[in-house]
Formats: sequence, C-alpha cells, structure tokens
Amino acid sequence: MTARYSGIGVSPGVAVGPVARVHGPVLPARAQGPVDAAAAAEDVAAALDEVGGELESLAARAGVSGAVLVRQARMVGDPALAALIRQLVRAGRTAARAAWEGFGAYRDMRASDPLRPAPDAAELDDLRDRVVARLLGEPPPGIPDPGTPYVLVARDLSPALTATLDPDRVLALVTERGGPTSHTAVLAKSLGIPAVVNAPGVAALATGQRVAVDGTAGTITADPDAETVGAMQRRGDRGPARMETGPGRTADGRPVELLVAVGGKSDLDEAREVGAEGVGVFRTEFMFLDRDEPPTVEEQVIAYREVFDAFPGRPVTARTLDIGADKPVPFVRLGDQPNPALGVRGLRVARRHPQLLVDQLTAIARAARETKADVRVMAPMVATTAEAAWFAARAHEAGITSVGVMVEIPAAALRAADLLRVVDFVSVGSNDLAQYAFATDRADGELADLLDPWQPAFLDLVATVLRAGAVVGKAVTVCGEAASDPLLALVLVGLGAAGLSMTPRLLPVVRASLARATSAQCREAAALALGADGPEEARHRVAALMDQ
Ligand code: PEP
Ligand code: MG
Repeated sequence: MTARYSGIGVSPGVAVGPVARVHGPVLPARAQGPVDAAAAAEDVAAALDEVGGELESLAARAGVSGAVLVRQARMVGDPALAALIRQLVRAGRTAARAAWEGFGAYRDMRASDPLRPAPDAAELDDLRDRVVARLLGEPPPGIPDPGTPYVLVARDLSPALTATLDPDRVLALVTERGGPTSHTAVLAKSLGIPAVVNAPGVAALATGQRVAVDGTAGTITADPDAETVGAMQRRGDRGPARMETGPGRTADGRPVELLVAVGGKSDLDEAREVGAEGVGVFRTEFMFLDRDEPPTVEEQVIAYREVFDAFPGRPVTARTLDIGADKPVPFVRLGDQPNPALGVRGLRVARRHPQLLVDQLTAIARAARETKADVRVMAPMVATTAEAAWFAARAHEAGITSVGVMVEIPAAALRAADLLRVVDFVSVGSNDLAQYAFATDRADGELADLLDPWQPAFLDLVATVLRAGAVVGKAVTVCGEAASDPLLALVLVGLGAAGLSMTPRLLPVVRASLARATSAQCREAAALALGADGPEEARHRVAALMDQ
C-alpha cells in the first residue's frame, strides 16, 4: 500500500527516486564472547589504516576545504590511539568495543596533555564512529554515496553537511525534524534541492525504496504509482512564474527593489537569470562553514569579489560572519553554550574575536574597491544602538562608507529609529526576528506555527521598523524567508519596504505578485493583516482582497 507522509515544504520542486539515508553511528554491544585477541588487534589496525586512507582521499578531493579531514587522518594514525585500543583488546574486548572505549581513553589522555591542544570532540567522535562502523561491517556515518542519484532521508541535517550536498546526486532532501526557516532549509533552497522538513514517520522508509517528494506541497509518497508521479511532474513543470521581467514595481509603478539572498558564487547564475536587482543579504559565513582555520584576508577578497563582480553598478549587501548557534564553524570555537541561539552568535562573536571582524571588513573594503558593485556591509544579531554604532565605527575605519545592521532581535526592532540614526540602513532579518519574538527555535519544526510570518505580533515589529525608516528617511529592506511569500510581499511593501531579498528561485513569483497590486492595495493589505486575529485570518483577508 502506498504510504504518504506530510511535512513542511521548504524548497520547491518535485523529485522521484530511491531513498538513501544519512547513517548514524552504531554503538557496539558490550556483551562479549571469547575474543581472539590477535585477530581483533589485526582488525583494529586495518580499520584505523583504512579510515585514515579514506579521509586522506576525501581531503584531496575537497581541496582547500579539506583541512578538517587532513587533521582527522593524522589523528587516526596517532600510535598512542592504536596502543590504547590494543590494550583494551588484550583485556578481552571485541575489536569494535575496544575501538569505542579506546577513543574515549584517547580523548581523556589528550585533554590532560599539556603539550598538545585537545582535539575537537566532534571530530574525534566522527573518527570513532567511522572506525567502529568499519569494524562492524556497517556503512560509514554521514552522507551516503550509493553511486546513483537519490532522495536523502535524515533525522536532521546540519547546515555544514547540507552545504556539501551535490544537487546532481541528491534529488530531494527529507528530514524528520527541522524548522521551515532553519539554515538547513535555507541552504537546500539555495542549492535548488526540493526539500521537506519535519516529516514524522519517514524513518520507516527503507533504503532503496522509491519515493516521490513534493517540496512545494510538503509531501512524500512511498512507492508512488504512475498517476501520482505524472501529476507531480506536471505540477513541477509549471515551476515558478517567469513571465514578468524587469525591475520590481507595483501595478501603479512604485519601485520595489527585488534582491537576492546568496551564499556564494554557486547562487550567481540563477540570480542573474531571474534578473535580480542586487543582493539583499550575502551570507558570507556559508563559504567558510567547514574551514579549519579562519580564511585569510586575501582568500576573503577573492571570494567576495566573485560575488561583487556579478552585480556591476548594483547594490550588494555583504553581511559579516553570522557564526554560532546552528552555524558553528571549526575555525572559531565558542565552547559549550547552554543556549547558543541566545548566546555568542553573529556580531557578538567580535567581543571575543575582534580581529576576525577587522579582517573581514578589511577584505570586504578591498574587494569593494576592486569591483564596480555598490557594496554595503551589515552586521547580524545586533541588539542595541551602542552595538550598531560600534560596528559602524569599525566599518568606517576599514574604509566602508555604506553601513547597516540587521534587525533580528525585538529589542532592535523597538528601537529601530535610534539604530537608523547611527547607521545608513537596516534590513529586517525575518527568520531570526520571528524566532526571537516568539521564543521559538527556528530549527524546531514542531513549533513552526509560531514562526509563521503572518503572525500579527511579528508584523507589528516589522511595521515598527518600517515606520522608523520613513521617519528617519532611511531605507529599510526585508530579508529572510518572509520576503519570498508573494502575498506577504504585498503587506511588506504596504508597510513601506523599499526592497525585498529572497532566494533567486522565488523572485519571479514575487515580481509577478507585485505587478498585479497597486500601492493602495498594498497599504490596504498591510492594514488588513495587522488588524487580523491570527496568521490564518491575516492570510485569508489579503488573499480575498487580491481575488476581488
Ligand atoms: C534572517 O534571520 O532572516 C536572515 C536573513 O539571516 P539568516 O537566515 O542567515 O539567519
Ligand atoms: Mg538571521
């Protein structure tokens, strides 16, 4: 019988293919029979060797981003690790159990070694899981490689792993957990991989089982029949509307800048294809998620120029590194924070590592001088006017003239007029503003209804920021997933947004929606949404207005 699962569609498109799963670690059983210690020792030595070799070849393929893999390969070849595992084998453990416990002993030994820095816990755990899986004859943990294109099914997926997905191999992504505005969802969308998150029950799908995924409707159909596949493909073929071209404007000609969110050069072709008027948020951290060492100023200049060069004469807003919370990077260790989304993240990282910000601003300024793009810079996770002023001063010192901040924290939204007195512009980061306004983790799909950008309280905060822009006379744009909802875009424009930033794929749909509404209708849509009792009512009111 055909089983059907529902989740939240976060990246549009349809795909049909066999399931492959992200493999979790396998825990070796404690129970032991008599163990042939000599054979077990040989197995362990071979497994350590093979895992080292595998990591070296992965590192060679990964090029500059393979530094972590090189370090792991070195660690797995450490004779001290092999000696600890051998001891456990001699004490009667099976090879897999000895490896499991041996890695724990190795971690303790390194932690108390005054001469060598302690290894990263996640890297060590990953090594342990690879060695144990090999000893048990199981597939290695992580992204599978079945050799043919597949639908990737996982419990959840980190942004760093999502960023490594190859859209030619991964037909679609399905996760059991995860929220609609999580960075994993954002990345899947920018890679153009249809994706459904928060789909309970998909753990029951078997490896190799054929499934049909609809990233727009948020459904997964197991063993689909020809009729289901045909209907889905017809829906997919229609794709986003591409009929409107040219700059964004309402039906009566009010300009609304249609900007794109990009994470690196892989997004540029599509941005150009859809006629983006500039970049609303360049998520610079996406280029460095797996870096072991901080990127040098020179490396950053090259990376930023690639994006800037694609938009001569157009605005490109480079956001400084938004690391921390669900975007940890190996090159900055922030330690175990009890609640990282409320901890050291975004601009706050500069409190601990000021040079990182100085270097990035230097690189952005240098890259800007070498291109014709109209480069601006903005900081993520700003809470106070003092932070905004401090950031603006650092950016000016680096030689950047147009400086802004993101409004992602309710405190900043409430004092947007003050912020706008110390910076040139602000951009509403709708994903985080919803997360922090509703005390709801954006990576948690279970609470997705609270993150709905049609929530009137969220719209009140956005309206406060946009009103402040009008009073102070400075531009306010909106970025984050809210800006790519074609109906909500009308509300945002009605509230005064000068520009909207979105994933390139959805830009034509928003352009078409704006072209159908007058400025007066947008203002009416805003009033209707703000006056609604809840998100459903807000949505229905605006849809009804536009259907008239
Ligand atoms: C946002 O928070 O809306 C935003 C654009 O930033 P990010 O999604 O990268 O946190
Ligand atoms: Mg954000």
